[in-house]
Amino acid sequence: MNKNEQVEQLTRYMANFVSHIGKILPDDIIAKLDELAAQEDSPLSKTIYETMKLNQKLAAELNRPCCQDTGVLQFWVKCGAGFPLIGELEALLKEAVMISTVEAPLRHNSVETFDEYNTGKNVGKGTPTVFWDIVPDSEECEIYAYMAGGGCTLPGKAMVLMPGAGYEGVTRFVMDVMTSYGLNACPPLLVGVGVATSVETAALLSKKALMRPLGSHNENERAASMEKLLEDGINSIGLGPQGMGGKYSVMGVHIENTARHPSTIGVAVNVGCWSHRRGHIIFDKDLNYTITTQFGGDVIMVEMKNGKKILTTPVSAEDLADIHVGDIIYLNGSMTTCRDVAHRRLVEGHRELPVDVRNNAIFHAGPIIRPLENDKFEMVSVGPTTSMRMEKFEKEFVELTGVRVIIGKGGMGPNTEYACKNYKAIHCVFPAGNAVVAATEVEEIVQAEWRDLGMPETLWNCRVKEFGPLIVSIDTEGRNLFEENKVVFNERKEKAIEEICKQVSFIK
Ligand code: SF4
Repeated sequence: MNKNEQVEQLTRYMANFVSHIGKILPDDIIAKLDELAAQEDSPLSKTIYETMKLNQKLAAELNRPCCQDTGVLQFWVKCGAGFPLIGELEALLKEAVMISTVEAPLRHNSVETFDEYNTGKNVGKGTPTVFWDIVPDSEECEIYAYMAGGGCTLPGKAMVLMPGAGYEGVTRFVMDVMTSYGLNACPPLLVGVGVATSVETAALLSKKALMRPLGSHNENERAASMEKLLEDGINSIGLGPQGMGGKYSVMGVHIENTARHPSTIGVAVNVGCWSHRRGHIIFDKDLNYTITTQFGGDVIMVEMKNGKKILTTPVSAEDLADIHVGDIIYLNGSMTTCRDVAHRRLVEGHRELPVDVRNNAIFHAGPIIRPLENDKFEMVSVGPTTSMRMEKFEKEFVELTGVRVIIGKGGMGPNTEYACKNYKAIHCVFPAGNAVVAATEVEEIVQAEWRDLGMPETLWNCRVKEFGPLIVSIDTEGRNLFEENKVVFNERKEKAIEEICKQVSFIK
């Protein structure tokens, strides 16, 4: 093979690899989810885990991305200085992402900052992100490919502590992230913690920690013991799947560390969601490859529960009167995807919503759509985005549009509580990361408006059948399940921090 042919071949391999990791979760993640699911006993947790299993089965059968949020592609490259394509690697990874975006297909997720337009190709200035480690005297190239979703990227946080804060301070920092944005990041989470000197060194380590296989431990005994302490501590908060309460909150806690300046402790947290789409592939100099992350195995058949509570649009205030937080419902009828920019256009830009959502449902979601002939579209993959992003607009949105059912993920705040109570609407959570389940419950895309906003932000008006499970998180009395849970989670967190701190006084 000449160089051009080699480049072409490696690009093709990587395009296929990216498409694959977007559809099938690695075996270590599936095994952990099964283990956690078996230990949950509440109907709510069980329903969520069953939906996850069904989603992974459908994603494999239908060959679709398992979560609609492609994320931003990140590659951790550990490249031998003698690898023949080292100079071409960055460009070919970009090309591979563009190919996979069309073939998989993937959602268009790369927005040029400041110019604020979606490139439509999942590439842009600096994306996909490539992190380099150069290995002298090697002709191999190892690549970790990772899809960093929006919801699980949001909790990311780094800071520099004074040494006096000690590992007790590290503990509090990590635990505080869990009860803030961690709730919305689609638990059970994989928590990556970086401990180093400064924010950037700690942050990079915390992301790198997410590439480690589940069940692996830091080689330092104290760090390994702190991984376990944090894992137990976060589990004891009881976030449960989707942050809606349950026995287990995390799939694991991984700490990566370097030596530090004596006057600082840099600490950072990055989390991976349950849909932890990562893969590890090693190429030799002749482009023979080994995939170390196993994908596949037996897909478990899951039956959805009978006795569903189904809400059909148009929905009236009376229809919602007997629906309360924690209930599990399903939706038939009209539902329109609607997220950040559409809310902003309506509330701040005073533009009329081009789809009538009165007495119908909106879905905080940015789907993957396949265009068909005659201006028709197919829903390939759709799932909820972080609802909290819409919180500042939701009160006015509900008042102006008369929408009755808001579907998203994670909690919402006082604006939405007010709107639900006063205008008689509800907010529900669709268990996120189950984008194939959701897509197969969309019978037809009826209308597509504000297409100038690009694939994720367009208003896709859909006819849905038994769309769910939808877990009611705010009801028409203004009760807010997430806020009620948060009080309990915070009490448990304080207790857990106290327990961990007794055992991590490494600085004396
Ligand atoms: S599972 Fe949740 S957090 Fe993860 S990528 Fe999908 S929507 Fe985002």
